[in-house]
Parts: sequence; C-alpha cells; structure tokens
Amino acid sequence: MPLLRRGVVVCGVVQGVGFRPFVYKLAHEEGLAGFIGNDTDGVTIEVEGPGQRVEAFLARLRTEAPPLARIDRVYVRELASKGDKGFRIVASEVLGRVSTGIPADAATCPDCLRELLDPSDRRYRYPFLNCTNCGPRFTITRRIPYDRSQTSMARFPMCAACQREYDDPLNRRFHAQPNACWDCGPQLTLLDADGSAIAAADPVAATIARLLVGEIVAVKGIGGFHLSVDATNEAAVLRLRERKHRYGKPLAVMVRDLEAARRICELTPDEEALLRTPARPILLARARPGNRIAAQVAPGIPWLGVFLPYAPLQHLLFNDARVHALVMTSANLSEEPIAIDNEEARARLGNIADAFLLHDREILQRCDDSVAAVVDGAPQLIRRARGFVPLAVKLPLDAPPLLAVGGHLKNVFALARGPFAYQSQHLGDLENLTGLEFFNESLAHLMRTFEIDPRIVVHDMHPGYLSTDWAKEWATKRGLEILAVQHHHAHVAGCMAEHGLHGPVIGLSLDGTGYGADGRVWGGEVLLCSLSGFERFAHLDYVPMPGSTAAIHEPWRMALGHLHAAGFDVASPEVLGLLGAREREARILLRMMERGLNAPLTSSLGRLFDAAAAVVLGRRVVDYEAQAAIELEGVAVDEPDEPAGASAYAMEFSAADWTRREPAKMGITTLWRALIKDLRAGVGKARIASRFHAGVAAGFVRAAVLAREATGLKQVALSGGCMHNRRLARLLRAGLEAQGFEVFQHLQVSPGDGGLSYGQAAVASALLSSRS
Ligand SMILES: [Zn+2]
Ligand SMILES: [Zn+2]
Repeated sequence: MPLLRRGVVVCGVVQGVGFRPFVYKLAHEEGLAGFIGNDTDGVTIEVEGPGQRVEAFLARLRTEAPPLARIDRVYVRELASKGDKGFRIVASEVLGRVSTGIPADAATCPDCLRELLDPSDRRYRYPFLNCTNCGPRFTITRRIPYDRSQTSMARFPMCAACQREYDDPLNRRFHAQPNACWDCGPQLTLLDADGSAIAAADPVAATIARLLVGEIVAVKGIGGFHLSVDATNEAAVLRLRERKHRYGKPLAVMVRDLEAARRICELTPDEEALLRTPARPILLARARPGNRIAAQVAPGIPWLGVFLPYAPLQHLLFNDARVHALVMTSANLSEEPIAIDNEEARARLGNIADAFLLHDREILQRCDDSVAAVVDGAPQLIRRARGFVPLAVKLPLDAPPLLAVGGHLKNVFALARGPFAYQSQHLGDLENLTGLEFFNESLAHLMRTFEIDPRIVVHDMHPGYLSTDWAKEWATKRGLEILAVQHHHAHVAGCMAEHGLHGPVIGLSLDGTGYGADGRVWGGEVLLCSLSGFERFAHLDYVPMPGSTAAIHEPWRMALGHLHAAGFDVASPEVLGLLGAREREARILLRMMERGLNAPLTSSLGRLFDAAAAVVLGRRVVDYEAQAAIELEGVAVDEPDEPAGASAYAMEFSAADWTRREPAKMGITTLWRALIKDLRAGVGKARIASRFHAGVAAGFVRAAVLAREATGLKQVALSGGCMHNRRLARLLRAGLEAQGFEVFQHLQVSPGDGGLSYGQAAVASALLSSRS
C-alpha cells in the first residue's frame, strides 16, 4: 500500500496546552511516522503512513484536542513520502513573526487536584502543582515562545524527578513550563502585618487559623493579591470594608465547590457551566435567601459574586472543613491596579491586612479575576481578565497593526493585526498615575508578546479622556496615524464584529456616559450602524445633569433634572420628600439648569436609571458606578397578576424628520408622570421598578420598529453598559424578537466600556480597508 505524507500547520492556542504530547500519542495510536515542532506560526506536523490512518489522524486532531487548546486554523499540504521510522518531537524554532496564541491561566485540573489531596503522591499538598492541562500561563510569561526560560519559573531549576516528567512525551507534564514540586519549586511564607516572618510548619494551616478568628489575610495568587476574610463573619467583613475604604461595592466570595455554590446561590445549568470553566470567573448569581454569607458582602442587592478555587493554594484553604466561604477581593484601594509584588503588597496593604501569605514565584502580569454573568441565556463577560486574556478575538476584517486605547473607566486596550484583536486585561480606571502606569506596563508587555508594532492609534472622541491625551501624545511621538471613534458607535461595532456582521444594522447603544458627535453626553442611542460609520436615528430626549459629573455620584440630582424636564415642580414638598432634598439645594440646582450653567444635556439611559432609583428607592448618593441602577434591577419583581409589560410606562416619540436626518426624540415625560402617579397611589416598589424596566424596553423596541420602517433593516445589535442589566436585556430581546427582528448580543467581549477598544479596532479596520 502506498504511504501518504502530509504537512500540517495548526494555528491557534496550541503552545503550552499539551498539544505536542497529544499529537505524539495520536501519531503512535495511528501508527504514523513523522514529527511535530512548535514554531512561530503554531505547530508544524508532518505525518506519514497508510492513507486511512492519515485521514483518521487529521480528523482526530480537531475532535480530540486537549481541553485548553483552541484550534483556529489547520493547513494541510501534500508531501512526498520520505520513509521515516517513528514519530519525534523536535525542538522549538524561533523564526519569523509570531501568530500563536499565548495560553490564558487555567484552573487546577481534576488530575492535579487528585494528586494535591493524595497523601501518597509526591506533590501531596504542594501549593504550586500544575500540568499541561492547568496552571498559570499569561501571568508568568515574559514573552513568547512560551518556554520555561521566558517565564518567572526560569529561576527554579527542575529536580531530577520533575525533569523526567518534563522530558517524557507520554507524561501529563511533558513540557509543562511551570512544572514544580516540593523539592524544586516555589514555596510559601507567612508574614505578620509588620513584615516579620511567622514561624509556621504549615503556612496554609496557620493562615486558616487566622481567617477563622476573623483576621484579614493578603494572599498572593495567580494574577495578583487577594484580600481574604471569612465571608460568614459579619464583623470581619465590615472591618475589611472600613480598612479598604470600600463601602457599598459587592465583594466576591469563593466557596469550596459547586455543591457549596449551590447552597449560597440559585444556579441555572448555564450558570453552573460558566462557574466551572477553566477560566473560573466570578459569577454574578442570585443569592439564596437565608444563606450564611454576611450581609455586608453584597449590601442592598439580591446577587452574589461567587467563584470556585482555581489555584492549588485555594483548594488547600478550602480543604479544611471549617472554611465555608471566603471573601476574595482584589487587593487594591478602590480602582487602583491590583497589587502583585511582595514588597508592593506590603507597602500598599500594610494598613489593611493582618498577615500576608506570600510565595516566591513572580507575577509578571497583573490580572484581576474575570467577572461574568448569564444574561438572557448566554454568558456575558462583565470584566474580561484572568482566564480569558490574552486569547484572541476574531475581527470581521483584517486589521493593519493597530492600537485601540479604549475609554476612561474600566479601561481595556486592544492590539490588532490581521484577523485578530488581543484585548488587554482589565486595567481599571485611567484617572490617576498608577492607572496610567499599569496601562503602559501592560501595553509594553503585550506589544512584545505579540510582536505588534502599531501603525495606527485609535481613541475615543472624548477630548477630556486621559486615554485620548495619551493616544495623541504617543502617536505624535512615533509619527503614527491617529483615528477618533465615537463611543456608542464603537459599542455597537464591537457587537457586530463579534458576530462577523458588516452592517448596516440597527444598533441600540445604551449606557451611562459617552461623548456624542454633537458634543453632548449621549447614552440612550438608536443608531444605524455599519462597521465604518453610523447615523443617529433616535435618542432619549435631552435632560440637564445639574452639577455635571456630580450628578453621576449623586443620583438625586439626576432625578431632579429629570423631574424638572418632565414638568414637575422640583421645589415642591412632595418632590423634596421623594429625593430627601432641602429646598435650598433644589433651588440652586434649578438655577443651574435654567441658566445652563454646569448642567450639560444628556440622553443617557444610565442616568435615567439612576434618576428612577433615586425616586423609587431614595438612593441619594452612590458608592460605586451603576449602584443605583443595579439596586433598581434588584427590587424589580414580576407580579403574577401582571403579565410582563402589561403596565409598562410609555414613552412618547417626536415625529422624526428622517428625510432631513433629524433624529427622533424619545420623550420620557409620560413615563415619569405614570411612575409618580403609581408612587402617589401607593403601588409597591417591586412593581414600579418592573413597570419602569418594561417601559424602557418597550420604548427602544418601538424605536427599532420605526428605524425598520424608515430603512428596512431587520438586524439589531445590543451594546453598552446597560446591557449588564439582565432584566432589561431579556425584555429587549423578547420585545425585538416578537417584532420579527434578529437580535445580537456580546459574547466574548464586554458590552460595557471594557469592550470599547475591541469595537474601536473593528471600526478602524473597516475604515482603513474601505480607504485602500
Ligand atoms: Zn493539571
Ligand atoms: Zn521537582
């Protein structure tokens, strides 16, 4: 029988994920000769043998790939038979341009977990065990190719036993770069708050003892430090909040396993699946009433951010039956970057933590925990970080090498080249120097990692964003082309790009704040979008924001602006009572609005939610972004006697003069009148919040219908930070689908400002390709 020989190149995430041993085994099972090697394009394979066996090999290559691998492309070409004997793994070559993905950090796999808890295993209770199917990757890697010498494991020479595993193609640890054991790998140390070492035979046991008496321990993890405290201890959680100066914002809770998660949260099968992915994100799920979690963990809202252990050290903490649930919150002050360095942590957290559980494996990339939720039956990333970064996201068009700098809050930048965009980890707010340093640090790292040297810099249109200034300066210094993209266009373009849509589509871009093309603050936008451009079809009618950004931090101001615009006397005792405001305060704001001083106009939907929360819940001031809106979503309940949407508060539409490209205005006066009427009639908050959500959704569905009548477009892309609101997302999709629309939502990229840079990259690639 004639022998076939095939050359195969596999691109995607195929290095550092056990791909070569997998192929080695596969070739042996099919009795094929040849070789496999990593190269800068992915892996190169040549196989030779009987035709059927080669075909079987090629099929199994795709279907049986290891769990952390992601195959983007497979190229196969015919080669002349060489009569090889046996199958070999050849050394890595470093040639040409890099296009392989660097793997993301992955949770401890079941095999490693078994070893961790097996007293007869040589890695019993070793806090840093890992294999090719699990362990740290992105956070310990300096550059690619992903090889031990390029990681922070370089300073730990392997012992003979580890080296044998590492060299054995049939071993689970074959070329597992962070491979280590008690004899040769990183170790733990426990320090006091003042930095002196605490003598403990078992630092893990000593840490548990401290946590159980309510102490706060800073625990060095995979992408940074966590501040950890017993989540069932009310006083301890409160002390953490006080020391961290973080009062309202919910804290993430880690529990032992899925069973334990089910005890504290009501989980759907989709949510359970998301909780257990190797990325192990924090999942926002509905809290089970009467669970033992301290009320201080997530005050005022019915959800909990819950996640499962993803590092061996965390599994060891939970291996003690007395540990039920631990707050594991990023060790930083408010929106500063997460601390990663031992010295940095002790300096920054000395006043917060009672003790430090450290290790000597350096974290090379800060990476917060990712946050996800199931929204309307599909997973949604709220914060894309550990476990997802730096996996590539496809672009619908090839991009020239470019950098998209994102927005201002919750910043994430994106590098793009060819068919892929690489988003950075969540970098936090770009409001101060530390934020900007983190931005620079991460950019340098990812440019080096992916060998992308941007030729174009893309930024938001907002003239006041630090990211805009930064982009202009950086581009000028390097003589690069610069491109500004409107905020809400970038949101919708991101959603389109994820689905490979070029448009035009109807884009609902619903968020808190974005700089509009007319210089006003946009946020309740119905856009007709292609990737390269947009027209504004309709928007929420403008209302003043008395005090400008102060109205974001103090929703009662926004409520006053809205009620004034809706024709209510905001100095009346009734309104003052609703908002908990003094007459003098109200009169000052009224004057600001009448004179147009420090009262910019906004069409923001986020601000409308804030205003409604201030009126319905009396939420005067917020401690964190979107708190008021989140609380309003939290209280909304569908009553059995009221079919969803039956009593939705209506919006009124101005006749759009679409021939003159005059956008339609979505009036909210009737909505406010109906809401206040319900309040006067003593209708419950749950019902009012539900009718409000239904009214907002119905308004935007109506706007989409008008847009379809004007244009014939039938596809709707949903984007913007308001899409984190699950009730709103569900109502919008249901309403739009009932009207016969095809509806798209974000999947891999956040709909909020964390996804902005991906949308900017999509817009830029479309603009640049239409130009050539
Ligand atoms: Zn493993
Ligand atoms: Zn070892």
